[in-house]
Amino acid sequence: PPLYMQRYQFVIDYVQTYRPRKVIDFGCAECRLLKKLKFHRNGIQLLVGIDINSVVLLKKMHTLAPLVSDYLQPSDGPFTIELYQGSVTEREPCTRGFDLVTCVELIEHLELEKVESFSEVVFGYMAPGAVIVSTPNAEFNPLLPGLRGFRDYDHKFEWTRDEFQTWAHRVCREYGYSVQFTGVGEALGHWRDVGFCTQIGVFQRNFDGINWSMSNAECLEPSVYRLLYKVVYPSLC
Ligand code: SAM
Repeated sequence: PPLYMQRYQFVIDYVQTYRPRKVIDFGCAECRLLKKLKFHRNGIQLLVGIDINSVVLLKKMHTLAPLVSDYLQPSDGPFTIELYQGSVTEREPCTRGFDLVTCVELIEHLELEKVESFSEVVFGYMAPGAVIVSTPNAEFNPLLPGLRGFRDYDHKFEWTRDEFQTWAHRVCREYGYSVQFTGVGEALGHWRDVGFCTQIGVFQRNFDGINWSMSNAECLEPSVYRLLYKVVYPSLC
């Protein structure tokens, strides 16, 4: 399967194993991961997509609407999807208290100095139970045919494994997380040493002692981000 599908599959497998109830996909773009998660929800009750670009969100948001089959076979538990326009460098009270935040190929689109605010907002302020961050592994680039410079014109940087891991370990120290590194897209033979094409950090919050107040966890009205779409799926309860 293509690399982007492998990244989505990684998240789906994680959801299957850890069963988060409230999930945010940051930089969700055309909602492709959200759409997959809707079909493999494994107990997700609230699925939120956030992107700074409202045009891409609006383009595909209708693909998240319930299908006839969702009415014929309502889900066992509640299931809601929400889409917001907002930036990962801005704090939005509605985004606190989630179980999982995914940032698939997002950070390399931020100016390096903005990565600091990203870390502070996601790990310090939102403080979810887990965070999955994927980003290109620059060490793999020599294997990509015809590539000069970065993999995308909008990338502000591409990190080596060491650069990514240095950032990740610092985030863990500052905000109380542990991280494990993996990836998708493996090189063959003696090229294996360059690591995965996409590197992934899976962060787990160390202490589960945070007791989110209702006003944070069940926030209805966003105050910073803009709600663009909300759909409550038919359910039996
Ligand atoms: N995650 C999607 C996927 O894997 O298919 C798309 C990733 S796309 C390469 C990066 C996305 O991040 C774009 O849709 C862009 O608008 C969004 N983005 C860039 N800066 C952002 C920011 N500060 N806050 C939220 N989203 C941002």
